[in-house]
Amino acid sequence: MPINKHAFFDGKFVPIEDAKVSIMTHALNYGTGCFEGIRAYWNDEERQLFAFRLAEHYKRLHDSAAILLIDLPYTVEELCDATVELLRLEGFREDTYVRPLAFKSQEGIGVRLNGVKDSFAMFATPFGKYMEKEEGAKVCVSSWRRIYDTSVPARAKCTGAYVNSALCKSEAEMNGFDEAIVLTRGGSVSEGSAENFFMVRSGVLITPGITSDILEGITRQTLLQVAREELHMSVKERTVDRTELYVCDEAFLCGTGVQIAAIASIDHRPIGDGRIGPVTRKLRELYFDIVRGKMPRYRNWCTPVYEDQRSGD
Ligand code: PMP
Repeated sequence: MPINKHAFFDGKFVPIEDAKVSIMTHALNYGTGCFEGIRAYWNDEERQLFAFRLAEHYKRLHDSAAILLIDLPYTVEELCDATVELLRLEGFREDTYVRPLAFKSQEGIGVRLNGVKDSFAMFATPFGKYMEKEEGAKVCVSSWRRIYDTSVPARAKCTGAYVNSALCKSEAEMNGFDEAIVLTRGGSVSEGSAENFFMVRSGVLITPGITSDILEGITRQTLLQVAREELHMSVKERTVDRTELYVCDEAFLCGTGVQIAAIASIDHRPIGDGRIGPVTRKLRELYFDIVRGKMPRYRNWCTPVYEDQRSGD
């Protein structure tokens, strides 16, 4: 029995067991969907669930849908409201993951994007850690290359593109690593299998730029801003060479799912002293305070799901 009981499916809240598609569905056959991964964090003191950066996730979903010619018939605001309503219906009082999915729902044969019927679905489910070794992952450089913009655009979070992520992740795990770093076709560093990459070199926080075939991550954007504003660090978005991975002082992966995972080694070379570095540790602490609504300066990134629980308790 799933823990989640409801789904939002084509404009209605329905029991999760009724949110089904046919085996003839276009998106199932051809990978023609786009999706988001959103987290909502439980704040025990406030007895409140906070959804993190909802509007930014739905703006990106709209961008992905535009690239894939998917008609998404809801505004960003309507999508935010539907998410809050779904979470209220489910009544979760723990950290939760929300998965909205816009997809080609036509049933039949024929590979194209134009003139094909679309659907939108969303479910939520309790979710803890994505990666066991968040404080020191063993990472390799993948033998696979990242998808690229003139083939399958990484900027769009499309379902079919995750074949690339899965190939990279499985190869890494089957070779005894926790994660993979993936290079662009040109051989520079792109990102992790489903996370953005950061490193620290001589006190500068560096991440590949948005033209390095990355997904334009919301956690990435968050950390760039937080490092500037809270740690007063110099931050750079620039091309990263493979061998920089071996000589950096700190490295970590970030994303909604993985949150912030420190990298202990890359291709068997220890990063720093092989333990979580000071910048990574500080950013992680700040991030967890921010997502749980504990830092007033960033409170506008956190959407409360329930009525204010603090009064009258
Ligand atoms: N890159 C890829 C390929 C991803 O799947 C994700 C997870 N959505 C990220 C980066 C991180 O993006 P975000 O911080 O928006 O979750």
